[in-house]
Amino acid sequence: MTGRILVVDDVATNRIVMKVKLAAACYAVDHADCGAEALASARAMQPDLILLDVMMPDMSGLDVCRQLKADPATADIPVILVTALRDHASKMAGLEAGADDFLTKPVDEAALLARVRSLLRARDTVRELRHRGEEGVTLGMAEAAEGFRHRDRPGRIALVAPGPKGAVLWKTALDDRKVGEVSVLPRENALTAFWAEDAEAPDVFVVAADLTHRNEGLRLISDLRSRPGTRHAATIVILPEGDSERAAVALDLGASDILHDPFDPQELAIRIRAQMNRKRQADRLRDSVRHGLELAITDSLTGLYNRRYGLYRLDCMLEAPGEEVAVMLLDLDHFKAINDRYGHASGDRVLKSVAERLQAALRPGDLLARIGGEEFLVALPRTNAADACACAERLRHAVGGRPFRLRQEGLSVAVTLSVGMAIAAAGPANRACGEDLLAQADSALFGAKADGRDQVSLAVGRMA
Ligand code: GH3
Ligand code: MG
Ligand code: MG
Repeated sequence: MTGRILVVDDVATNRIVMKVKLAAACYAVDHADCGAEALASARAMQPDLILLDVMMPDMSGLDVCRQLKADPATADIPVILVTALRDHASKMAGLEAGADDFLTKPVDEAALLARVRSLLRARDTVRELRHRGEEGVTLGMAEAAEGFRHRDRPGRIALVAPGPKGAVLWKTALDDRKVGEVSVLPRENALTAFWAEDAEAPDVFVVAADLTHRNEGLRLISDLRSRPGTRHAATIVILPEGDSERAAVALDLGASDILHDPFDPQELAIRIRAQMNRKRQADRLRDSVRHGLELAITDSLTGLYNRRYGLYRLDCMLEAPGEEVAVMLLDLDHFKAINDRYGHASGDRVLKSVAERLQAALRPGDLLARIGGEEFLVALPRTNAADACACAERLRHAVGGRPFRLRQEGLSVAVTLSVGMAIAAAGPANRACGEDLLAQADSALFGAKADGRDQVSLAVGRMA
């Protein structure tokens, strides 16, 4: 993994030592020798991570950290505070200032590099999601993603401790610290309870490295990361005192953070809150990417697939080896007259109801898309001409069989439907193409219109 790291320290020797360690692990290193320069460089260079000395003559590292976190341009850059101070209060102050971790000089190289890898991984995830979200915006797909917020609920924290006694101790330690809903989870339930993607899984798991067996908690971390329901949860591993070797292992296994026993409850609470915020940010980005993708493939009036995605799905259907695929082009008759008579808004409501009726008359595997103003595409996989004609008649009847009641206007609007249909053999050897089939269906539709509308017409001459 490569990354650009900004090392901030007022002592030149410290900067050089750090640079040698990081450069050996193939990171690009920049440096700053005071707080002011650190802030300017962070803004200008957008490093992937900042290693920040706490004691500097012009400004304390804690102040620098606070300023970095308060500025949207630098708030996402992970910060590791590095200090000679061993006192607990300054450590807490650092974490409260928004630092992701706190390392004490002389810095243990393995611990440093594992922490850097873990923070860069987390940052890559956020970047990737942002990038995908922005792509959607550039393509004009994510108009509504803005303002879309993950539902506001208290965070869920699950504690997986070595035994019931330990679990109670941990839970008591978190009482009154307002981290969210804390629950104790027996190890055997941690994997089974949240298997499904839509399970209400915890946001943060706090797991002891050793449960009934040594390393059992570490194995649980990798398991949680591999399951759909818990893949995006944050994990904090509690390690025995002084176990720095396994701290690096835990981070490389995908743990989001680590803490050593006996831990300070305040520190655990701060770290849980930090992980919760980070997870929420990623969840929000994921939601907006998903939402953007949905917008990209759907038609906003009816919620059906749009033309582009409909044709893409049709091509996929035609590639799958199978029997025949029936393609229909449906066009409402004299729809312009409906708009002229009742107004465009009422016309829209009719279109929406037409979409609903069509959808209800189709099978789950059938494809329905709105490909033009009052034109719909239907594709039926594994369907011969006779069955397709029966389906087309069913659709025609679903629309023309009874008028549309527009409650708001107190109107009853009758609309009929003309259908042009073409049938093709699917499979790679047949090379049927959606656009060609649609053109055939379109000429059949033209026939249906010419013959008086409100009818189904099958294209003559089938595709190979
Ligand atoms: P035909 O039987 O020949 O299909 O007649 P038509 O009036 O349906 O066809 P034409 O292609 O002349 O006009 C289509 C009309 O559909 C024109 C437009 O007012 C209406 N239309 C297209 N898109 C929308 C839409 O999103 N909302 C509403 N309300 N009307 C639409
Ligand atoms: Mg039309
Ligand atoms: Mg029409």
